Amino acid sequence: MKKILVFDTTLRDGEQSPGVALNVHEKLEIARQLARLNVDIIEAGFPIASPGDAEAVKAVAREIKGPAICALARAKEKDIEVAWESIRYAETPIIHTFIATSDIHLKHKLRLSREQALEQAVWAVKKAKSFTPYVEFSAEDATRSSWEYLVQVYSAVIEAGATTINIPDTVGYITPLEMKELIEYLLKNVKGVEKVTISVHCHNDLGLAVANSLLAIQGGATQVECTINGIGERAGNAALEEIVMALHVRGEFFQAQTDINYQEIYRTSRLVSQLTGMLVQPNKAVVGDNAFAHESGIHQDGVLKERLTYEIMDARLIGRQEKVLVLGKHSGRHAFAKKLEELGYHLSEEELNKAFARFKQLADQKKHITEADLETIVSEEITKQEEIYQLDFVHVCSGNNILPTATVRLKAADGQTLEGVATGVGPVDAAYKAISKMLGISPDLVNFTLQSISGGTEALGEVLVRIFGDEKVYVGRGSSQDVVVASVMAYLSAINKMAQEKKLNPQKDYQES
Ligand SMILES: [Zn+2]
Repeated sequence: MKKILVFDTTLRDGEQSPGVALNVHEKLEIARQLARLNVDIIEAGFPIASPGDAEAVKAVAREIKGPAICALARAKEKDIEVAWESIRYAETPIIHTFIATSDIHLKHKLRLSREQALEQAVWAVKKAKSFTPYVEFSAEDATRSSWEYLVQVYSAVIEAGATTINIPDTVGYITPLEMKELIEYLLKNVKGVEKVTISVHCHNDLGLAVANSLLAIQGGATQVECTINGIGERAGNAALEEIVMALHVRGEFFQAQTDINYQEIYRTSRLVSQLTGMLVQPNKAVVGDNAFAHESGIHQDGVLKERLTYEIMDARLIGRQEKVLVLGKHSGRHAFAKKLEELGYHLSEEELNKAFARFKQLADQKKHITEADLETIVSEEITKQEEIYQLDFVHVCSGNNILPTATVRLKAADGQTLEGVATGVGPVDAAYKAISKMLGISPDLVNFTLQSISGGTEALGEVLVRIFGDEKVYVGRGSSQDVVVASVMAYLSAINKMAQEKKLNPQKDYQES
């Protein structure tokens, strides 16, 4: 069986999903879990994009052992230097450099001739190679580029030292059979292609990303670039879990396998969903809530008699277990810490203490604490940044025949106490207005979701907000059995991130691959 390398780009392309913004701590949590999942390569970010991105890539490169760590760089000197600075301490550092090759991109975006782009690609690969032996080159928008030109470019970059050539379907345009043909064509015509890894990077604009990746493997590709839950630019990337399980379930057919640790798939999916705030649709293949649920009586009857009648995969194989009561109010700190480890979280002492205090508080009020409750509490602690403003109290007055009013008091990190009162169309609106007024800011509330974490009227409510201020989106989350309190905590967590970011000053001059 042919071994397929799994190149995970959740932290780079996935992080470029609209509305997603991960901080260093969150990226590290995900990287640790990707290492347990046993991916071959982690693309940790695009260091030139912002100082925060560079810092996150550095942290991942220093800590994560096992997978190779990759950083993205345009075919520009500064990009490549910054990428190298970010990954130089990794066990296996890969610089991934790219330039567009389609006439549409060359003409309208880069304003370069084909000859100039080729020259720049060769220069960039040589530059990257001067830092590390591992260099990946991508011809951006390859699937809309001339095949003859691609042969020239890939042959030249291999001669310049590229060890992986990537064929991105940047805009999700190609169809499966064409993809297979393209890979076969490149394998036949590119000089030196037998010495390098052949990679594909498929986007899901037409819902074909996984199919295109699988057909590329059939055509001879040896690496797939993908993300957990298929998150990414626009309609997203090929979903890691779908490719991996297709190769597993239909191994005989594909004659290819990955080294993924299947047991970690479900946990990774949950962690990424929690930390990015990108919910997984219930009918999502492999990791959706309904992926192993049988509704029809005939199906249920069949599965009870023999699971194989209606299931092609065993849910337990990917680490999905019955959601049982895990901990109760008498559980100790040790059991709590161990359960979190099982769920894929690694908390600092301070975070653990805070999370444990929240757990105890919840356990006093709620009989059954589920894994989902724990995940909610913990991901909230992890996503929190330095609390520049802390909620002291919120008091609301609302009803159907009253003007909703909120009084909020915050404690600032400098010891100051801030207080504000406002009215609004409802208690959340009033509380948000009170906070904005006292801080003298007016971010746009782009998105607000409230979901109940388990059944019952006493359930934990989780609020996820996205605010837009200072030309950037900030995600905040908060949970409480009181939905107004959860809403205020979510808003404050986003505002704290915004206040924190003001200390950094990110550059914005970059494009995505
Ligand atoms: Zn992409």
